[in-house]
Amino acid sequence: MTTAWSHFEAAAREIRALESIDGLAGWDQETFMPANGAEARATQRAALKGVIHEKLTHDRFGELLERAAAVDGLDTRQLAMIRAVRRDREREIRLPLRLVTEIAEEQGRAVEAWKIARRESRFSLFLPHLKRLIALRCEEADARGHSGERYDPLLDGSEPGMTTARLRPIFARLRDGLVPLVEELTSRPPPRTDFLSRDVWDTDVQYAYSIDLIRGIGFNLEAGRLDRNDGANAIFSALHEAGHGLYEQGLPVDGSPLSNAPSMGIHESQSRLWENFIGRSRPFWSHWFPQLKARFPEPLADVSLDEWLGAINAVERSLIRVDADEVTYNLHVLARFELELAFIRGDLKAKDLPGAWNEKYEKFVGIRPPDDRQGVLQDIHWAGGDFGYFPTYSIGNMYAAALMQAAQRDLPKLWDDVAAGNPRALLDWLRAKVHTHGRAKDAEQIVIEATGEGLTEKHLLSYLRAKYAV
Ligand SMILES: [Zn+2]
Repeated sequence: MTTAWSHFEAAAREIRALESIDGLAGWDQETFMPANGAEARATQRAALKGVIHEKLTHDRFGELLERAAAVDGLDTRQLAMIRAVRRDREREIRLPLRLVTEIAEEQGRAVEAWKIARRESRFSLFLPHLKRLIALRCEEADARGHSGERYDPLLDGSEPGMTTARLRPIFARLRDGLVPLVEELTSRPPPRTDFLSRDVWDTDVQYAYSIDLIRGIGFNLEAGRLDRNDGANAIFSALHEAGHGLYEQGLPVDGSPLSNAPSMGIHESQSRLWENFIGRSRPFWSHWFPQLKARFPEPLADVSLDEWLGAINAVERSLIRVDADEVTYNLHVLARFELELAFIRGDLKAKDLPGAWNEKYEKFVGIRPPDDRQGVLQDIHWAGGDFGYFPTYSIGNMYAAALMQAAQRDLPKLWDDVAAGNPRALLDWLRAKVHTHGRAKDAEQIVIEATGEGLTEKHLLSYLRAKYAV
């Protein structure tokens, strides 16, 4: 290894380490941090983001990068590292340090204001922060540069390489496929779900059972943890988060700039794949349901496997995205995408957002929120200034469907393995096709190589039609 290369790699690893400390601070902020830590945490994260910005944009780092890029005989991994770091630097160099820290500080304040606004269902408490975040992030988008579509640089921050022009027709076809599906499924007699809301789902038992489940799909508890989470959905939240965790556990562990996901969409594809495609399937529960019944004899005494599957796959028009079923879920996302596209373009004023939200829900999901707490204030994302993030949830669902389709083709015994409680071959397939690349390739390139095609709605739609026999 030449000196030029090792100097560059050491500097790049240091930046990556600082970014992961920010990730840790952000995770703590959203999980365990007491409310009074908010001001200090906002200051800490703004300071850290400032340090990362300065290191990444420094002339000296630019020289290290270009000298390393000029080294003869770089291997594909090294070339990928150059590409990834150059992209990060080029994005960051366009931003003034002032803007980077101002956004970080405002995010911290906005999240705290949003928590109170949501609790009291008073959008007006959040409005000034939202306005300020929109203004700051529009300034950021303009600084990063775009060809007339201000939303693009924001989308690119979550889903590198994706554009509004590319996404809109895919989303439109997805919506055209989903709306009649929801219509059909909600007109059927609803499945029995009474047992899900019985208040005898003991949290400790759920936790112990969730540990068994995530271990069963291959999650390594020496390299990750599961925290307690109550509510009827705890088991599925555990599967979802374990799916993210399995991906993280399969990424390159060398601490290089490649030891990261290439996009949020691909990250979400891994969580949704385990939560829904596997975790709500009949083969999966044919193995796990007897153990579930043994753990919860009381709430499940009179419940059959068929009734359980019916309940966990029930489709209904509902208000809250995170509780939505697989079919309606994407309509929640598409509504948010259109709204944020409108306010970033300047076509919708922040103060008009609650009304626009309610109208969009009526049109897309077929239900009108009774208040802002269950409407426009339900998600943290806009309070965090995360515009351009929501689309990655639906991109993740579409990638998950495409990957499952390809995995079934490559692994003829996949469902037998799942029914036997041992989906190891699927995990190994995902490791080889997706996880191991880290950021060495773009998300869509990884999907193309694994499945033969890029982002498309068709596998998700055909999966849902087959599953619900429509
Ligand atoms: Zn997720």
